[in-house]
Formats: sequence, structure tokens, C-alpha cells
Amino acid sequence: MRLSRYFLPILRETPKESEIVSHRLMLRAGMLRQEAAGIYAWLPLGFRVLKKIEQIVREEMNRAGAVELLMPTLQLADLWRESERYEAYGPEMLRIQDRHKRELLYGPTNEEMITEIFRAYVRSYKNLPLNLYHIQWKFRDEQRPRFGVMRGREFLMKDAYSFDIDEAGARLSYNRMFVAYLRTFARMGLKAIPMRAETGPIGGDLSHEFIILAETGESGVYCNKDVLNLPVPGEDIDYNGDLTPIVREWTAPYAATEDVHDATRFEREVPAEKRIHTRGIEVGQIFYFGTKYSVPMKATVTGPDGAEKPIHGGSYGVGVSRLVGAIIEASHDEAGIKWPEAVAPFKVGLLNLKQGDSATDAACEKLYRELNTRGVDVLYDDTDERAGAKFASMDLIGLPWQVIVGPKGLADGKVELKRRSDGSRENVSPADVLARLAP
Ligand code: ATP
Ligand code: MG
Repeated sequence: MRLSRYFLPILRETPKESEIVSHRLMLRAGMLRQEAAGIYAWLPLGFRVLKKIEQIVREEMNRAGAVELLMPTLQLADLWRESERYEAYGPEMLRIQDRHKRELLYGPTNEEMITEIFRAYVRSYKNLPLNLYHIQWKFRDEQRPRFGVMRGREFLMKDAYSFDIDEAGARLSYNRMFVAYLRTFARMGLKAIPMRAETGPIGGDLSHEFIILAETGESGVYCNKDVLNLPVPGEDIDYNGDLTPIVREWTAPYAATEDVHDATRFEREVPAEKRIHTRGIEVGQIFYFGTKYSVPMKATVTGPDGAEKPIHGGSYGVGVSRLVGAIIEASHDEAGIKWPEAVAPFKVGLLNLKQGDSATDAACEKLYRELNTRGVDVLYDDTDERAGAKFASMDLIGLPWQVIVGPKGLADGKVELKRRSDGSRENVSPADVLARLAP
């Protein structure tokens, strides 16, 4: 992509409305535009990151055996009356009427709808276990939308729903999602800690929130330092194998949100020097809720003995749009964002320090062409801006690599290769750039 042809509305000043660094940086880097409180347009740079995150979530869900579909954003109120959540959900639900005066709502979550789909088609335990998911916009009319995409009203969520014949089966499904979440967040360069959590309006008795430790987080959390160094399962993990040892290892060190925190146990189990009490960002939550929806909604299957049984369910959410902000909270410096490569909007920023100079133009055009040919995403700053402004913009938008092409270095056959994560720089030949960035 040529910056001269792109749409990247960078702000030089710090926007007043932003209370936390990720929101500030997203606005300054031209990723996001607020259209109403908690409702945002994703500008091209932000949209690229959102799609990268979504794709990682999708790959790890598929790897764990979940099956993607897509449910609508609008749902019938009557469906929610079946589970008795229509009244119970309260003012966070956006309620809508169509021209026929039929009551609709903009889905804040999808337990009812997926249960309706399930019961329409699945009759036998032989079709279980089943895990269906989608990645879809949700609306919750939050009391206090704030911190940009971290607490929006309209936000993108991955939500998966598992169906099993009994509790034992449901726990296996829960474990598969638990492990898939460990892998998902690790691939984004995040340390997300599974913590025991309250179940809230989703219901049920078993739940973990996946939390990124950050001072700007909204949840108070307590954990044992040891949990920060546990190994994340590799991509060869066998989801049909026994996952309990992994779940047991990850749930052994104390880790709980303040809602379920047990101070006595914390002090008994965790030596003083290993106690962490800080704040965190919830990037995902998983629930086992048994027959909470299947009983009132009559989602039953025939078991091996021929008897009809309500299914045991779980649901599993990831805050896809919240993750964009959470990753920035975890990875930035004074100059701007530092994207982990897996979610970066472009892998490389190519800076022509003297646009119009025949030597730098030719070298940049050649590098740009060759990197593109090899499938590397490049943002080529081919504008007439001064070098200083180009450096500042590139640092702000945080691409993992910068290739800096100036007339002086080029006279010696060299360009500068800068790594954004640690600021390290090397003078290398254009051929080496290709070898390094497009092996
Ligand atoms: P919170 O406690 O932050 O309000 P929640 O527990 O109500 O979230 P869940 O129902 O567990 O949310 O939704 C799954 C995921 O969706 C959450 O873990 C979070 O990452 C994300 N999420 C929830 N609410 C919002 C929101 N208002 N804006 C952005 N992401 C959200
Ligand atoms: Mg939650």
C-alpha cells in the first residue's frame, strides 16, 4: 500500500476525550472514529488489525473442533421470553420495534438463538459433542461506555456454544475451549491468565475469565506469580486427547477476580513474595451452565438408553474488538504502538527519506515491488513529508519493521532496518532486507 493512496488520518495532537493510552493511540494513529458514545467506525488501519485478530480467533476455534456459522444481529423478543431473560436483561438490552410492531432486540449474546437452531435439527446424542460459533457484532447499552473499544456499546465478539449429553461431556468441551483460549491469546503476543470468575447474567456454576494484567483494566484481580510462566500448548495439541493435565496445571496457582476472591485462601496458598494484586482487562470468558437454557427451551436429544435428555451447555466469548485496545495497552511506548507481528496491520513500513530523489525513489520502488511479490504487507511512505514527520508517524502506527531509505546510506549500497519492538537498527543491503523480511 502506498501511503499517498491510503487513508490514514493521523492526528498530531492528543485528543481530549481519551482517558487511556490505547484509546489515545488508536485515535492518533487514525484507526478509529467515534460515531456515537461507544459506537465506532473502524478506519482502514484499525480494520486491518481487527481482521487479523478475528482470523487468529477463527483458526484456533477451528483447530479445537468448533464449527463456524453466522447468526443475525437482530433477534425476536419472544425467543428471549422462552428463557425468561427478556425482562431480566434490563436496560443494557437495545429493544426495537419493526413496522408490524413486532418486538426485536439487538443481540447482546446468543444463547437463546443458538439453542433454537440446535433444537430444530439435532435429535440424537450421536451428533454430540457439537460446538458452534460465530464472530458477530453485539450491542449492550452500557451505563458508561468508555476507554474506546475496550468498553463500547457496539462491539465485535466471538461467541461459541457447546452441546453435550451430560456434565462429564460438557466439561471436556469446556476444557477444549480453555486450551484454545490459551493458544489464541498467546498467538497475539498476550499473557492472558485464566481466573475463576462470577457467572453473571449468563448463569451456571463454572467459569473462567481470561485476563491481561494492566493498571488500566477495569477488574480487580488476585493471582500467584507462578501462573505467568506456565507453558502454552503448541499447535500440535490433540484436542481429542486428555486435556485435563493442562487445565489442572493452569488452574493450580491461585488466580481469581475480586468478585470471587477468597482472601483467606490467597494468604494461605500463596507465599507473600508471589502475591499479585492488580487490575486486569477481561479479553474472554468461558462458562459451563448445564441445562439452564435447554430445560426451558426444550433442547433435548435421545440418549443411548432411548430417553430424552436436556443437553448440557457452555458458552465461550472473546472480545475481538476489545483485544485491539488490550494489545496496545500491553505493547506501546511514548512514541506509539508496538504491534506484535501476528496482528500488525502491515509487517513493514518503507520510508523514502527523500521523495523525488531518483536514487531513493528507484530503491524504494524496487523494494516495494519485491516485498509485495513475496506476499509481505508493506506500507510505503511515498509522501513529501519531512523525514522527522515520517519517523514519528511510523513509530506511532507501530509496524514491526521499518526500512529506511536515505540518499547517504544508499550511496554505500545500504538501507536501515529498524525493529520497532526494541528500537534496534542495522545497516543492511536491500538484498538483505528481502532475505530478512521475506525469507
Ligand atoms: P464486562 O465484565 O467487561 O462487562 P462481560 O463479562 O459482561 O464483560 P461477556 O458476556 O463475558 O462480557 O462477553 C465476552 C467478552 O466480550 C468479554 O470477555 C469481553 O472481552 C467482551 N466484551 C464484553 N462487553 C464488552 C463491551 N462493552 N465492549 C467491548 N467488549 C466487550
Ligand atoms: Mg465476562
